[in-house]
Amino acid sequence: MIYSVALDGPGGAGKSTIAKKVAALKGILYVDTGAMYRAVALYMLENGVDINDEKSVCAALENVQVDLAYQDGAQRVLLCGEDVSDTIRRSRVSMAASVTSAYKCVRAFLLDAQRDVAARQSVVMDGRDIGTVVLPSAQVKIFLTADSRVRARRRYKELTEKGVQTDFDSVLADIEKRDWQDIHRRQSPLKQAQDAVLVDTSEMDFDRAVRAVLSVIESKLGE
Ligand code: C5P
Repeated sequence: MIYSVALDGPGGAGKSTIAKKVAALKGILYVDTGAMYRAVALYMLENGVDINDEKSVCAALENVQVDLAYQDGAQRVLLCGEDVSDTIRRSRVSMAASVTSAYKCVRAFLLDAQRDVAARQSVVMDGRDIGTVVLPSAQVKIFLTADSRVRARRRYKELTEKGVQTDFDSVLADIEKRDWQDIHRRQSPLKQAQDAVLVDTSEMDFDRAVRAVLSVIESKLGE
């Protein structure tokens, strides 16, 4: 049976690391839709398109191609054929993605590709609107969240471990700004689907969060 797990929630809640682990344990595909929004934003930044001008962004989409590829089980994101999986993680790209993802044309541009993957195989798909818009009939819907200070602490640790120079207050400010933009936009705002199970990871370590998500999946699938 092909099934979908829709995993939504704010940035930094641990969605991608948890989703990757859960997908590997269940032997299904992990799809990171945020990476697709990031690739679109990167295109705009690299090609001098004003990200605050919706019309220009929509017009530029004509030249954009975003593909997902899988190498040794890891998702790679290709922008017009070029692997941009690392570049899209920069904080400038995060902020830009939060702006351009609010445009209807950008969402429509990525929607079919997201639905197509899920129609072909079982997936854990992580994003903001998977349970509400992309896969409203997903068998399992989970809304993964954590307190913004906890999310900022995790993101700060991740960045400093990678050698990125930053300070806690600006990481927290970025997270809160992005939350605000994602929650208050008109197109597909970040919100918990009515039939999604809430998992708050503020007090959980990684293994416990993975177990919590697995147990929701198994109970929904009747395993
Ligand atoms: O999840 P990630 O932080 O990589 O997402 C980057 C940005 O892409 C988010 O801030 C959000 O604005 C946007 N996004 C979205 N819908 C999704 C996934 C991500 O709008 N399904």
